Amino acid sequence: MSKKIVILGAGESGCGTAILAKKQGFQVFVSDQGSISQFAKNIFETLKIEWEEETHTLSKMQDAQYIMKSPGIQAQVPLVQSLQASNIPIISEIEFASKYTKATLIGITGSNGKTTTAMMTYKILVDAGFDVALAGNIGNSFAKKVAENERQFYVLEISSFQLDNIVDFAPHIGVITNITPDHLDRYGDDFKAYLKSKLRINENQIQRDFLLFNGEDPQLSKAVQNINTKATLHEFGTLNKNINTTCIEKDSILIETQKNKTMINTMEFPLKGRHNLLNAMAASTVAHLLDVSKETIRESLLNFKGAPHRLEPVLKIQNIRYINDSKATNVNAVYFALESMNAPTVWIVGGVDKGNDYEMLYPLVREKVKAIICLGVDNHRIINAFQSITDLMVETQSMKEAVLIAKKIAEKKDNVLLSPACASFDLFQNYEDRGDQFKQAVREL
Ligand code: ADP
Repeated sequence: MSKKIVILGAGESGCGTAILAKKQGFQVFVSDQGSISQFAKNIFETLKIEWEEETHTLSKMQDAQYIMKSPGIQAQVPLVQSLQASNIPIISEIEFASKYTKATLIGITGSNGKTTTAMMTYKILVDAGFDVALAGNIGNSFAKKVAENERQFYVLEISSFQLDNIVDFAPHIGVITNITPDHLDRYGDDFKAYLKSKLRINENQIQRDFLLFNGEDPQLSKAVQNINTKATLHEFGTLNKNINTTCIEKDSILIETQKNKTMINTMEFPLKGRHNLLNAMAASTVAHLLDVSKETIRESLLNFKGAPHRLEPVLKIQNIRYINDSKATNVNAVYFALESMNAPTVWIVGGVDKGNDYEMLYPLVREKVKAIICLGVDNHRIINAFQSITDLMVETQSMKEAVLIAKKIAEKKDNVLLSPACASFDLFQNYEDRGDQFKQAVREL
């Protein structure tokens, strides 16, 4: 029987899967309900891959061995439902890619901190001389990397949508950075369903594998204790020093495993905030489990530059610091941003509110925020949430205006922080565009 794969969606994961599938001898058919980029079309033409756009032809799909559903496509859409009914396995790109590599996989998931932790882990492993690639939600898809150049290790940033369609995918080391409400619209407003989907990172792990999880996150810790797994559970960010934990002792990260113990001094680490320390604990633990020396881990983290749009220092103008945290698209990320502010802060917030509950921010807002600048088409939820606890609130409709007003309000030594807690699609193309516009407006001050 000829092998056939149907790929739904022609974005990064769709293109990556198409390239790998072709290389593996599949007949490939790509179908996208929207329009397909010229870039993707060029790839398909070169590889002689059949594609269609702005439609889905079900009759061309029913003889497929696999359907690869891109993570952006919801499971509830009628086409996916019909395919499910015809019993063709619907898999994600990471599932497909993992069939064609024998590499050791490190899978990093969670609500916040995936990119940062994946980048830290990757940097340490590169600095330690590993043959490693970084893939997944970050940059190139895993499938594309596997097709291009087989490596011994892959550090994968994995969203819950990718985990929703795994079958055998199993990272040797899985990391869950935290689980807080986000994307609940895709899980029927059911936090438990979202939590369950993240925990699937452990679903196929076996005895020799590790699941690292954030012990400071109460819901995650509780859920992890209840899973039935043969993998070693290793808690980071805990206060309980023990075997299989990573915690902070004085100025060091203390890692204890079944085999040994190590301490990594954190003095002069460039990334600020408790959350980044948690990310560093997770990344260091992965590296330690792979036998990287503590000296290499420390040296590597000392030189780690954070990713753009994540608490990114922009400029200091007239002794006011401007900080771009445009990637903070949920309340938990903002919590850690505000927590790390060490001066009175003018906070720019707003956008598309995905049903936020702002209550956890109240103490920090009372303590650190001197003014709130709302930046969104509809600001009523933010106004309702904070009007009784802030002296000054201003509504704005453009980044330029928001930054100009922030400058007027801020005094010497204050911070101006863009940390929106919301998605960006009302006024911007995406969070990068929002962050870039912030940086541009600051430079023009
Ligand atoms: P993700 O890839 O999961 O979205 P990022 O590393 O891109 O995570 O960070 C997204 C946002 O969350 C940024 O605002 C960042 O400052 C914040 N953040 C980073 N790490 C953590 C963490 N461990 N806990 C909470 N927030 C975090």
